[in-house]
Amino acid sequence: MNEVLRLLLVEDDEDDYLITRDLLAAQNRMRFALDWCAAYAEGLEQIRSRRHDAYLIDYRLGQRTGLELVREAFGSGPRAPVILLTGQDDYEIDLEASALGVADYVTKQALDATGLERAIRYAISHHGALRALARTEERYALATRAANDGIWDWDLASGRIHLSHRWHAILGLDQPREEEQQPDCWFELVHPDDVHRLRSAIDAHLAGESEHLEVECRMRHADQSWLWVLCRGLAMRDHHGTPTRIAGSIADITKRRAAEERLRYDALHDPLTGLPNRTLLMDRLEQSLQRSQRDPQAGCTVLFIDLDRFKLINDSFNHTVGDQLLIAIAARLSEILRPGDTIARLGGDEFTLLLDGMSSGADASAKAQQISEVLERPFLVAGHQLFARASIGICVSSSDMTAGELMRNADIAMYDAKQRGGETHAVFDQAMHRRVLTRLTREGALRQAVEQSLIRVHYQPIVDLASGRIRSLEALARWPAGWEPLSPSEFIPIAEESGLIAPLGRLVLNTALGALMRWRRSGLVADDVSVSVNISRQQLDDPTLPDQILAALRQCEAPPQALLLEITESTLMHEPERIGRIVQEVCERGVGLHLDDFGTGYSSLVALAQFPVRALKIDRGFIPPGEGHDTTNAAIVRSTIALAHSLGLEVVAEGVETELQQRQLTELGCDSGQGYLFARPLSPEQTEELLAGWDVSAYGATGGGRPQA
Ligand code: C2E
Ligand code: MG
Ligand code: MG
Repeated sequence: MNEVLRLLLVEDDEDDYLITRDLLAAQNRMRFALDWCAAYAEGLEQIRSRRHDAYLIDYRLGQRTGLELVREAFGSGPRAPVILLTGQDDYEIDLEASALGVADYVTKQALDATGLERAIRYAISHHGALRALARTEERYALATRAANDGIWDWDLASGRIHLSHRWHAILGLDQPREEEQQPDCWFELVHPDDVHRLRSAIDAHLAGESEHLEVECRMRHADQSWLWVLCRGLAMRDHHGTPTRIAGSIADITKRRAAEERLRYDALHDPLTGLPNRTLLMDRLEQSLQRSQRDPQAGCTVLFIDLDRFKLINDSFNHTVGDQLLIAIAARLSEILRPGDTIARLGGDEFTLLLDGMSSGADASAKAQQISEVLERPFLVAGHQLFARASIGICVSSSDMTAGELMRNADIAMYDAKQRGGETHAVFDQAMHRRVLTRLTREGALRQAVEQSLIRVHYQPIVDLASGRIRSLEALARWPAGWEPLSPSEFIPIAEESGLIAPLGRLVLNTALGALMRWRRSGLVADDVSVSVNISRQQLDDPTLPDQILAALRQCEAPPQALLLEITESTLMHEPERIGRIVQEVCERGVGLHLDDFGTGYSSLVALAQFPVRALKIDRGFIPPGEGHDTTNAAIVRSTIALAHSLGLEVVAEGVETELQQRQLTELGCDSGQGYLFARPLSPEQTEELLAGWDVSAYGATGGGRPQA
């Protein structure tokens, strides 16, 4: 050691000071700078200045003792080594000194130069080692406290385990008095389902099969709840590799596990209703199919549930109401589950019910019936009374069906149920598959036809029965699809269900108004002849319809009186208020309204008086064949005409095919007629020919027979 060590000697006897000084000077192993103070108070002051590397303190300091000085100066422990010097050896003082942390206790008489130097050197080196150890312990304690882990240390030879204060605290326990315990007091707290896993992992690690011990298990907290803890550890081995000790930590990971649990749950459930989502449903379906492969008796059935016209609820109220209704529906559907069944929400207004172990179509139909019944009870949502109806598709598993096919087939069956007007269920079969395929192909082709304006409009005159004059031309859509011509009664429903009716309707409206105005300008028709355009229920769901109609009139420079809208009786009666409001908007401008297919909707005529309806078109089915037998229909037509007239409405007869019919209708007071007798629906070119050659005297009640064309 080359540095100079600063020593402080507190010694009230000057002679002793001189001896000490000389002893230190007499050796040449270490270099010392010695400060001396003779009095207690001065010594205390010097010690507090903290300038010294070691202290030599005499036991006798006048009235006081060196031990009092040490206690007063250092309290919990000396900051630098202290050597107590004493006149005579006293075991009591010796013990007291070591309890105070004094490094050495030496009798002055026994001291020589090397002895003093060695005492100081040992004291400094021990003190340094103790300081280092204290720092390590402090760091270790701090680290484990910061990590918040509980520590365990298991001595394999004695079979005793030390469990730290924190270990107990994590589990809500007080630390027991004895330092070491039986390992069982740990395992007794582990969840019965986890204890075997924990023990095997420890055994495996001790056997050298794993590098670390790392197990997650549940442990019982003092409040009887279960905590998830992460238990980690490492074994210590002797030079034979035999484990002698294993120690480690436990950490409370309950929150992390809960978060993971939540994530797992969220990944498999629909956030709105809390029902299983598609992923979980498919997983259960796969399992169910695997079971039925082992046991062919088992099988399973999928019910695909799609709410009818749910969009309307969302559009009419706000989305919160729609959401609340879906939640309420989910709850009702859950009511009818048997153990093992799954009800899932696939998004939107689609639910799927998986019936595990059910393999009969009849049972599944009964279940579908049950679903319809629970949905039939009204729902009270945000003060509104709402009704839910569903189209349900059913597919029963067969041995060769995959989960994907089962789902697709149930979807097809649902589609079929929807096609038949909804509020019903259908069981999948192969014929249905072919039907749906055809249907989807047609829908694709129709979409193309509408986009490429391949839809044509034909015209059929509506004739005033008294005068024989043409009152209006009904525009009827035609789809000249090359490979398979379809009638409007076939393709209009496709357009209505696929949303294509909106662009198709616009196309017909614009084309018809354009044609009429051309014919008016060229004098082919009089200026009071109008065009009749059919409007579907779906078109009336679109709130911009009135604007579209007015825009079409402007674009074709047509007065509103040039247009008659034909809405079927059942459309109007389905939602009288809403549809009444929409048509009112255009009728106020002068557009006319005719009620199509009248007689099929069984509405009361009086109810119609509140709408701006101008005429009723009596459905073809009610027009008597004219041979005199069908007296019931004749009576219906007669009373309809009488009542309509009394309400100020005109009557148009559809499907007039014979002169006899024409005569009878005229006699009954019917205002106008439309039918093959006058003309079939004709292409624009044929219509122009018809109009050019129109002879009122041929058709008017006053005129003669049919034209000779
Ligand atoms: P609708 O509006 O009742 O049209 C009258 C239907 O009766 C037409 O059938 C017409 O060809 C047919 N018809 C006319 N006179 C006679 C007759 O004397 N005897 C017989 N047996 N039938 C006659 P079409 O053209 O097949 O149209 C069927 C239905 O398709 C229409 O019934 C209408 O509801 C709908 N439709 C046609 N075009 C459109 C359109 O552009 N838009 C909408 N929304 N629907 C349309
Ligand atoms: Mg019509
Ligand atoms: Mg009709």
